[in-house]
Amino acid sequence: MQLDPTMKQAVIRRTVRRFAQHRLAPAAVEMDTTGLFSVETAEQMGGLQYFGLEAPDEYGGAGLDPISYAIVIEEVSRANAAMGLCIAVHNGVAVYPLINFGNEEQIGRFLRPMATGESIGTFCLTEPNAGSDPSSLETSADRSGNGYLLNGNKVFVTNGGISKINLIFAAMSGSGTKRTFSVFLVESSRDGLRKGPQEELMGMRGNPVCPISLHDCWVPEENLLGGEGRGLKVALETLNGGRIGIAAQSLGIAQACLDVSLKYAGERRQFGRTISSFGAIQNMLADVATRVEAARLLTYRAAGLKGSPGGSAAYSAMAKLNASETAVEASRVAVQIHGGYGYTKAYPVERYYRDAKVCEIYEGTSEVQRMVIARSLLGR
Ligand SMILES: Cc1cc2nc3c(=O)[nH]c(=O)nc-3n(C[C@H](O)[C@H](O)[C@H](O)COP(=O)(O)OP(=O)(O)OC[C@H]3O[C@@H](n4cnc5c(N)ncnc54)[C@H](O)[C@@H]3O)c2cc1C
Repeated sequence: MQLDPTMKQAVIRRTVRRFAQHRLAPAAVEMDTTGLFSVETAEQMGGLQYFGLEAPDEYGGAGLDPISYAIVIEEVSRANAAMGLCIAVHNGVAVYPLINFGNEEQIGRFLRPMATGESIGTFCLTEPNAGSDPSSLETSADRSGNGYLLNGNKVFVTNGGISKINLIFAAMSGSGTKRTFSVFLVESSRDGLRKGPQEELMGMRGNPVCPISLHDCWVPEENLLGGEGRGLKVALETLNGGRIGIAAQSLGIAQACLDVSLKYAGERRQFGRTISSFGAIQNMLADVATRVEAARLLTYRAAGLKGSPGGSAAYSAMAKLNASETAVEASRVAVQIHGGYGYTKAYPVERYYRDAKVCEIYEGTSEVQRMVIARSLLGR
């Protein structure tokens, strides 16, 4: 098992960190304040292959290994969590299933524009009545000529406002009591696909999360991904990988909280001393640092197992569960260490607090991660 980064992984971390601190951190404040996605920043990230992290070189991707992939998401999220979310979803649950379940023709048609960031992707599983239980989704796919007619409503679509390609999960009409599901690559330009207004989010406010509805939206059979009836398999296998991206994102937020907490504790003086000289503050810093390091090891362990037969589902669930709860705790402690100023916009910690929370919710809540882990332990 690899515990230390390779030379290449260390270089990747340094390079991404430099770019993230200079370009992404300033954009984070503006994106959070205005709630607007920064197209200019995304274009810069596209030029650095951040939209094709694991995609092969011949399609314009960076061809990274899964640990390097996690390192990039971590460093981007450390500076700008909304942009970290954008690339974690695009790479982890849009590009990844295309590479894994797409046929040669689909990869030839869709991969290059996605890997270069020209075409940003979404993963549309959640619906008003189907959240933790995706098998209750109501969007329908009816055979129509040499394609399918899609009808239904998707909610909470990350990257929805800027996407050009959308993975739409739907129940096959006529599949009787034993329902089957399929997933379709649906271009945003298709007739019948409509995007709703951007959600007013608590955190990750710069990501254009919105609903997407489908009204007799026809897609050709060439856009069916992974074969008819294989939608749930695609969804679950994709989420196993995607959760590693959310773990890495959480880790980046947690590390950012530790960085600013250390700095502030070393500068702020009370009772004639810096607050870092107080045992209570030292304990908080020590606990957070320990949790961050443990989350990092578990995230890289899950990344190292990505795609391996068996075991990886439980590890990615453990990594996501642990790192997201670490991020929430690290942000709570960061606000506490900053005292009253932590509760204002003078410091970034109130944003970290808001950004961290959703990591415990999307791509499966913490309760769902515990179910996945328990099922694996119990051999079910
Ligand atoms: C900012 C944001 C971005 C998102 N992006 C996407 C996206 O890109 N694509 C997408 O498809 N979805 C996305 N989601 C949706 C997200 O994945 C769901 O919100 C999440 O899976 C939970 O579903 P729900 O909100 O319907 O909650 P529910 O499933 O209704 O759960 C409500 C509560 O009940 C608990 N619960 C449910 N079932 C059980 C059980 N069996 N045992 C114990 N507890 C249970 C849950 O843990 C939770 O605490 C996003 C959500 C947000 C907020």
